[in-house]
Amino acid sequence: MPKYPFVTKDQVVEIAEQFPTPFHLYDEAGIRRNMEAVRDAFAWNPGFKEYFAVKANPNPRLISILHEYGCGCDCSSDTELMLADALGIHGHDIMFSSNDTPADDFRLARKLGAIVNFDDITHIEFFERVAGPIPETVSCRFNPGGLFQLANGIMDNPGDSKYGMTREQLGEAFRMLADRGAKTFGIHAFLASNTVTNEYYPALARILFTLAVDLANETDVHIGFINLSGGVGIPYRPDQEPNDIRAIGEGVRQAYEEVLAPAGMNDIKIFAEMGRFMMGPYGCLVTRAIHEKHIYKEYIGVDANAVNLIRPAMYGAYHHITVMGQAGGPDKSRMPATRTYDIAGNLCENNDKFAIDRELPEIDMGDLLIIHDTGAHGHSMGYNYNGRLRSAEVLLREDGTCELIRRAETPADYFATLDVTPTGRTLLAQLTRKES
Ligand SMILES: *Cc1c(COP(=O)(O)O)cnc(C)c1O
Repeated sequence: MPKYPFVTKDQVVEIAEQFPTPFHLYDEAGIRRNMEAVRDAFAWNPGFKEYFAVKANPNPRLISILHEYGCGCDCSSDTELMLADALGIHGHDIMFSSNDTPADDFRLARKLGAIVNFDDITHIEFFERVAGPIPETVSCRFNPGGLFQLANGIMDNPGDSKYGMTREQLGEAFRMLADRGAKTFGIHAFLASNTVTNEYYPALARILFTLAVDLANETDVHIGFINLSGGVGIPYRPDQEPNDIRAIGEGVRQAYEEVLAPAGMNDIKIFAEMGRFMMGPYGCLVTRAIHEKHIYKEYIGVDANAVNLIRPAMYGAYHHITVMGQAGGPDKSRMPATRTYDIAGNLCENNDKFAIDRELPEIDMGDLLIIHDTGAHGHSMGYNYNGRLRSAEVLLREDGTCELIRRAETPADYFATLDVTPTGRTLLAQLTRKES
């Protein structure tokens, strides 16, 4: 299936006149339609709740859109908890799924009344010691070990992952929590990342539902929810078939009817913590071609770099690119690919390439390029190597107008933490003088 951006060439040219490149652009209409599809796919389960994985895109404006539909927050750190709190999201609307958790984070999670998802059995006593009594509603993260396989092959390697508890620890943790007054229990697992198959959630659900029946018999606790966590993927490549959330919801329903209903456990709520699936396709990085270089390969240098999107450099991840063109020039978005380029940023790292040997239409200097699927784990994974600054974020509203939802970083932001040194204070003073 060819991949097209959610904006036309004329639209993006106009937006780039208003906001200097590079910037991440988000599609409100797309976010809303997808959220509605998720809600509808799980409507059969009255307690269903999606806790948006804040780490995927911690922009408050975007989280608020999801919250309109009753979506909660899955937080993994104290700052993510603060963000949720500032949006008026607290109590059981927060799932606190963290690992290697610092004491302060547990304290804040408890203060906000979040559901704490314990990653490790030792965290139970640690939590009690640093944060206070165990809440009545708790959750534990399960790691079955070994390889996780579906019919079409090995999906991931939980045996090699640092998360969760063994089966034995899970039973022990439930007993420890029950002894400490917990009344409602949840089970959580995240066994495979970015799955582009409708089979993942149903297969995971079957494992966790069976486990829930066993644990309820074994420990006599009340299991209130099963958290399928994240891992539902998106088609980064044009040849990938997108997940069908309706089919995924239906697959989970079947497992529910077959495993939980006969055990009389059909009051269990289904929770999810999707990040990538909720935002990934509804963001893109808009950047401009600023240099071309012909040495042993053909390079196009753009004004974005891995600071704005690290996934290609970090994981060798594929991000589709559409050449849009520029004001007064032709619309290149549907032109055939006639050239082979490496699309590079300006970091002093040779892995700072958004694409390697990519077939694209001929690129002229000044052309706008769209790097697709940056809505999740895009801006949020940004960093400041080479003193490069993170970009702005812009929301394309349903009515076609644009809203700046995060400004670009400035040198003053970059130097701000040096205010403890004389040099840092001098730099900051010079910048303030220049601005005024
Ligand atoms: C990363 C993460 C998620 C979100 O994963 P996606 O693949 O983006 O859906 C959810 N829950 C936990 C605990 C995570 O670490």
